[in-house]
Formats: sequence, C-alpha cells, structure tokens
Amino acid sequence: MKYRKLKGVQDILPPDISVWQFIEEKAGNIFRSYGYREIRLPIMESTDVFTRSIGETSDIVEKEMYTFQDKGNRSITLRPEGTAPFVRAYVENHLYNEPAPQKYYYMGPMFRYERPQANRYRQFYQIGAEAMGIDDPKLDAEIISMLSSILEAIGLKELNFEITSIGCKECRPDYIKALKDFLEDKLIDLCSDCGRRFKTNPLRVLDCKVPGCVKARKGSPPMVDYLCKDCGDHFEQLNNNLKKLNVQHTINPSLVRGLDYYTKTAFEVSSENLGSQSAVAAGGRYDGMVKEFGGPATPGIGFAIGMERIIPLINDSLKTTDGPELLICPLGEEAAEESLIIAEQLRAKGHWVEVNYDNTSIRSQLRKANRIGAKNVIVLGDDELENRKVALKNMTDKTEQIVALASDELLKILKTD
Ligand code: ATP
Ligand code: MG
Repeated sequence: MKYRKLKGVQDILPPDISVWQFIEEKAGNIFRSYGYREIRLPIMESTDVFTRSIGETSDIVEKEMYTFQDKGNRSITLRPEGTAPFVRAYVENHLYNEPAPQKYYYMGPMFRYERPQANRYRQFYQIGAEAMGIDDPKLDAEIISMLSSILEAIGLKELNFEITSIGCKECRPDYIKALKDFLEDKLIDLCSDCGRRFKTNPLRVLDCKVPGCVKARKGSPPMVDYLCKDCGDHFEQLNNNLKKLNVQHTINPSLVRGLDYYTKTAFEVSSENLGSQSAVAAGGRYDGMVKEFGGPATPGIGFAIGMERIIPLINDSLKTTDGPELLICPLGEEAAEESLIIAEQLRAKGHWVEVNYDNTSIRSQLRKANRIGAKNVIVLGDDELENRKVALKNMTDKTEQIVALASDELLKILKTD
C-alpha cells in the first residue's frame, strides 16, 4: 500500500457514518430547543489564541498542539479545542451586543498531538455549546441539564456527572497556597512532570494519572473548602438547581480541568463502559476570558462532548445499510438512456433511484440489486421499451406488478411502499 492515513486519525465510512449522523441530528434538535444556534469557525487560528487562554503550562499548550509556520511566517495552530476560537469570534464579531444569554453550538474536528490509543485520537470530533452573558448559576444548571438530555437522547446509560467549583481570581490563590503547603513535603513522591507543575501550575498535580502522584495527593485540601462567598453561593445554588432539574450528579472536589481559563463551575461526564479513556464530555465556566480577549467583561459557560468517546457506547443497530428505493437495470444502450431520464424524474420527487451501469445479464444485475439492498427493481429491455410496460419487482416480498413505463406510474407504487 503506497499511502496510509496518519497515526491517530480515522476514516469514517458508511455504515458507521449513520451513527455519527444520528448523534448530530439528535444533538442539533436539542440544542435548538434550548435556543442554541449553530456556528462554524475556522479550524486554524493564530497560535496565541490558544497559548494564553488555555495556559502556557497546560498539557495542551506544552505538548499537544499542531503548530506550524505558514508561508507568510505566521505561527498557526490547528484548534485543539473549541472555546478559545469561539471567544475570539465572539469578541471579533461583537456578539456581546446581542441580548444575553447568547447561545451557540458547534460540531467539528479538533487536533491534539497525543499518544493514540483506544478512544484517543490526534484528530477527534467535538460537539460543543457555549452560553454567554449570564453568570446566574441557573444557566449553569440549564446547560448541564441540556448536556444530560443530549446524552440520554442518544441512548447513553451509566454516566457519572461530576461537578465542582474551582473558584475565581479572588479565592484560588489562597487555595493554591494551601495545596502547595500540603504537597511541599511530598515532592519526592511526585513524577517529574508534577515536580515542575508544583512550581508552574500546582492545580495540575490534582489531574495527574501517575499512581505515585495519585497516592501523594491523597488527603489534599479540597478547593470547595476555600471558595469565597460569591463562588460558594454560586456553587450551592447550582447544586440546588441541578437537584430540582433531577440531574443526578456527584461533587468531586479534586476535579480540575486541563485548561486554565475555567472559573467557578467545572464538570466532567464519564462512562463506566469505556475503560481508561472514560471522559465523554467536559466543560465549565470561563468568566474572565472575554475580557482577556479584549472584549467587555462577559461571563460564559460551555462544554464539549467527545464524539469518539460516545460512538462506542451506541447501539450498533443504528448502523443503517440502506439501499435505493428503485434500481433500474437497462439492457442495451437505448434502455440505458431511457433509464437515465426516468431516474431523474423520480429523483426530482425526492426518491432514491439508481441506474445500473453494468451492461450485463439480467441475473447478474439482480444479484447486484440484492448486494446494494435495492427495495425495488425494474429491468428495461427492448420489449419493455416497445410496450411501454415494465415489471416492477419488490425485492423484499418478491412480488411483481406490471406498470406503465412512466415516472408518474412508478411514483404511485414507490409512494405506497
Ligand atoms: P482526557 O482527560 O480524556 O484527555 P480532556 O480533559 O483533555 O480529556 P477536554 O479538553 O475537556 O478533554 O475535551 C472534552 C472532551 O473531548 C473529552 O471529555 C473527551 O471526550 C474528548 N477528547 C479530548 N481529547 C480527545 C482525544 N485526543 N481523542 C478523542 N476524544 C478526546
Ligand atoms: Mg487530554
């Protein structure tokens, strides 16, 4: 084989694509019922859109970005996530001038240079939502409930919703100090990455999966104990509202997100049926980001669902191998041209019609009809052309009926199928 796909990317082909389309349709319908409108943003941005907002010392910026110089010597990055480009677009297009909350959703590919493994890819797809302009925790509850509705609508079960608050600029420094005090005499047990993180970004130590680090941080003080009054009240109201909306969730005080821009609410949804890469969706509030991007201070909250993480959880019965409603099998050149015209007329009425281009025997044409799952077949030979009558064969119940060779006659029968 001369060419092969790159490591960590996928070709998504039929019939698998029908599962993707099913998810996208369900999610789109639910988004619109909550007032979210679709946006489509570039997949590449100036590198600095990501570096400052996600955080210079985050794993994404330190190790995972696809960054390159373009021919004009600009530093360009393929988006590793959707929120930073969204906030860039929000500010650039002055979307903050519209009435709040402004709600948007997106679906598309993200790129991270990670070690490929089950459910972890270098090009992966996210479905995400962002709601801007409101800092009321009822909006946090609403968006988390929407996420839950989407995951439920596509049939996912045994999901864990974990929620926490990671505070704000006011209260987080006190917490970081307490965490550093706690970790100080455990530095020797931390991995080399965490040794570095202890200095540059100590919260990140809470996220490390290395067993030694997991053990060392046991008993560390929880952020939720250090929240200022505003963040504490916000978190309490969020929990109350989630209860009222019947969104089952647990509080996980050691949940930290891999992105620096989050404030207050942070959440993650994981599945018990996925093995080690178990996070199916994650999100949080980012109240300082719009200002940092040069817009007016505007709160925001969002989430992203990882498509490749939910696909394996979805019932295979959704993979449809549909075939055409009608396959026209012409015998000879004249019949082939007539077939082309009839097919066009039926397609104009919205039917899926194929013309067989193999000029072979009736037997092999019928074999092909079976292979492609055609629901009905007509064979068009000289006799049929002359008499303007044709036998329409129903491939499911094997019945045949003679009909006039005219699109409106065929249409009547296809309609009643
Ligand atoms: P993880 O802990 O699995 O690395 P993350 O915290 O880096 O996830 P986010 O940046 O929060 O992920 O992205 C949101 C969702 O996107 C994740 O919950 C996951 O479902 C999905 N996701 C992230 N990275 C990948 C990847 N490399 N391949 C497939 N899906 C991914
Ligand atoms: Mg990650």
